[in-house]
Amino acid sequence: MSRRVVIVGAGINGLVAANYLRRAGYHVTLVEKKTSTGGACTTESFDHGDTRYQYPSGASVLGLMQDFVFQETGLSSKLKTFVPESPKLVFFPNLEGPTYIYRDPIQLDAELKNKWGESGDARAFRADEAKIISFIQSGYREAKTPSIEEAKSVLGSDLVDLWITGDARSLLDHYFESDFSKMYMAMTVTESGPVSLSERYSAFTIPIMGSGSVFNGYYGFVFQGIWNLTQSLSAINIGLGVDIKLSSSLVDKDLDNKKVLVETNGKEEWLYYDDLVLATDPLTAHSIIADYNEEQFFSENKLTGSSGKMNLFFSKPIQWKEEVSHSDSDSAFRFIFSVGTLDAFESASQEILGDRAHYAPGFMQIYCEGAADRTIDPSIEHDRIAVFFKNLSLSSNGEDLGSVEEEVKQQLFKHIKNPEDCFWSKLSTPKDLKETFYFPSGNVDQTMLANEQMYFDRTFSSNPSENFYGFLDHENIYYCGAAAYPCGSIAGTPGYMCSQQIIRQQKNSS
Ligand SMILES: Cc1cc2nc3c(=O)[nH]c(=O)nc-3n(C[C@H](O)[C@H](O)[C@H](O)COP(=O)(O)OP(=O)(O)OC[C@H]3O[C@@H](n4cnc5c(N)ncnc54)[C@H](O)[C@@H]3O)c2cc1C
Repeated sequence: MSRRVVIVGAGINGLVAANYLRRAGYHVTLVEKKTSTGGACTTESFDHGDTRYQYPSGASVLGLMQDFVFQETGLSSKLKTFVPESPKLVFFPNLEGPTYIYRDPIQLDAELKNKWGESGDARAFRADEAKIISFIQSGYREAKTPSIEEAKSVLGSDLVDLWITGDARSLLDHYFESDFSKMYMAMTVTESGPVSLSERYSAFTIPIMGSGSVFNGYYGFVFQGIWNLTQSLSAINIGLGVDIKLSSSLVDKDLDNKKVLVETNGKEEWLYYDDLVLATDPLTAHSIIADYNEEQFFSENKLTGSSGKMNLFFSKPIQWKEEVSHSDSDSAFRFIFSVGTLDAFESASQEILGDRAHYAPGFMQIYCEGAADRTIDPSIEHDRIAVFFKNLSLSSNGEDLGSVEEEVKQQLFKHIKNPEDCFWSKLSTPKDLKETFYFPSGNVDQTMLANEQMYFDRTFSSNPSENFYGFLDHENIYYCGAAAYPCGSIAGTPGYMCSQQIIRQQKNSS
């Protein structure tokens, strides 16, 4: 009889783990609390006139997935994707016009020198980053979690000290002179939460966030919305024979008898397992399986989130004021900073801690989803964008922060010729993310990617060297949600790596 795996949580990680384990011959049951799969890679809709519009309430862009996961799961043959080739545009409040982030390194060097007065070595930065990324990626493929010793033997102590165990500020000071370059590079450090650039290990977030291979390290779009990715993977998994139980919540456990209690629409059922995989947020895993109370959990984990997201719809294609001479320029990523120095960047990211401010403007990243769709289907008449922005505290829901919504729009609309075509917008705050997606403290990565939660620390195993994805000291119970190495995002890497550990352990024991 095939081994029974119960996976709890049908977000990207639960879905990827289910796909690999089912194809390896396991009997897989996937239990999901909500009425649909996808977790934070999902959609909501609204009606306007006679039309229903869909938008991404969680993730928007794809980039951190490994290409082999995209291919091996079967996703690559189901989805149409698009990656803008146009240079990205970056705006600072104290600089005239945009700076273009060209793909060509010679053009980029000239642009950074010209616009930002950069006299450092951007090319050396990229070359060294590529070495770290290549090291990390080989670990992903082999499903091997790295150690500092191994990193040192492959990369040398200098690179490890700078890029892995070091802090982001020292890393950026090493390669760059201009605060503008440093702020541009530092965005990823604070993307998940208010991590200080001086915090040990904060450097490592930079190569981690560039370690996707599905689009060679770039970010792009899934046609008609990223939620099609988790929906397609659910359909693929059902076709493979994964039993997906929707509206079904893990509510209790009897670990001695290897069974968990699942409640579906008021009815309770015990599910027996040989292996139990927790692909939920980490608080749910700790409270149900390990009887942690919230106080104990929060005392051991840093999870504060500070990202806001706004979705906006326009009745006609957005006309950007700043032109780029490239055929797909309407879909180019745009980054608008509200701060002009690295110190101001750091202060804004830290200001929302302890609820000292609801909103401390830092930067916004604009994802032109409608324009990306139109490169595949030019007949689409309306437009939509997502604005991912910093820094918001955990104190309020989006619907109570009308003034913040207006402030973000005002800043955005300075760059748009036809703001009057915007007919709908919605703001989500870290508090909304906590309530909608069960992200404890509203962090999109479900952990702060900070000191003591980086690299080999990003595990809940009591024996990481032998059993990295194991959950505490429980036998045959694993954790592979976004809080596990390497991080969250629509990548499924923790789900893949955990599935391989389970398969390996079973092979070794038989
Ligand atoms: C606003 C926002 C924007 C983002 N933008 C991007 C982006 O553009 N690109 C990107 O790559 N990433 C982005 N992310 C991050 C990314 O969405 C997450 O890191 C990722 O989706 C997490 O996947 P997961 O499978 O680990 O967890 P989740 O998606 O949270 O899935 C966990 C699942 O467990 C279920 N569950 C919880 N408790 C129980 C229970 N008791 N019983 C049964 N099921 C349960 C939940 O319902 C959920 O479906 C964003 C996230 C947010 C919120």
